Amino acid sequence: MVEQVALNNIAIVLCRPFHPGNIGSAARAMKTMGLSDLRLVTPQQFPDPQAETMACGAVDVLEKTGVFANLPDALADCSLVVGLSARTRNLAVEARGPRVVAEELAALARQHKVALVFGNETYGLSNEELGYCQALVHIPANPEYSSLNLAAAVQVMCYELRMASLAGVAGDESSAELATQDALEGYFRHLEQVLVEIGFLDPANPGRMMPRLRRLYARARLEPTELNILRGILTETQRSLKNAAAGKTAVGKAVE
Ligand code: SAH
Repeated sequence: MVEQVALNNIAIVLCRPFHPGNIGSAARAMKTMGLSDLRLVTPQQFPDPQAETMACGAVDVLEKTGVFANLPDALADCSLVVGLSARTRNLAVEARGPRVVAEELAALARQHKVALVFGNETYGLSNEELGYCQALVHIPANPEYSSLNLAAAVQVMCYELRMASLAGVAGDESSAELATQDALEGYFRHLEQVLVEIGFLDPANPGRMMPRLRRLYARARLEPTELNILRGILTETQRSLKNAAAGKTAVGKAVE
């Protein structure tokens, strides 16, 4: 039997979609496979009659589609974010195949909200958008022409997710909680601030430091308690800096 709970926990996020027809087709692709959480980041045109025409019997998915001003807002409640890339070169994270990632997502989605992020029809995902993704998928299409239509790419992933959830893949049964994207973004802002304060990061010339650190933390799949420890370290670092600046000796304090 299909695991509907898991499918309900999987969000499909379209970044800057240009054609409203593709939004409708994506909604239809989702509903045929049992998914319903569609999120749009700054769509060119939405709502739109063309979207409704292409959605056919999936207009209900469009009606409850969330529209967001930026990608982090769209991902705030998600614990794992996977980006879809039509290209394989010049990617900071190595892209994996749809089937293996769908199995992992279907298992995780039993307990966590997860998201699949798709790029704009012309430009794909920007480097900034890729930075929010903890893993990448490339659909191994014809290498001479590997760029699928946006809604077709959504269909392939939703099909794989349905197959994985029908098979009831064993996958990751760990009940460990995962930090949400919102909490992670708060941590990255704090980390960047401290790295600047201690002189490790030059804000005028940041290079690839933050993207590299994001990649490192993405591999760790942080739990909320672990994130609290890391935030505690940053807060204590700032306190020590202040004390040192005030000519006092910083008092070391262990953080639970
Ligand atoms: N011209 C763009 C591709 C746009 S296709 C480019 O070169 O990047 C729109 C979106 O569909 C992509 O951003 C990606 O999210 C998804 N997509 C299309 N083909 C794909 C493929 N082969 N593998 C993974 N995602 C794909």
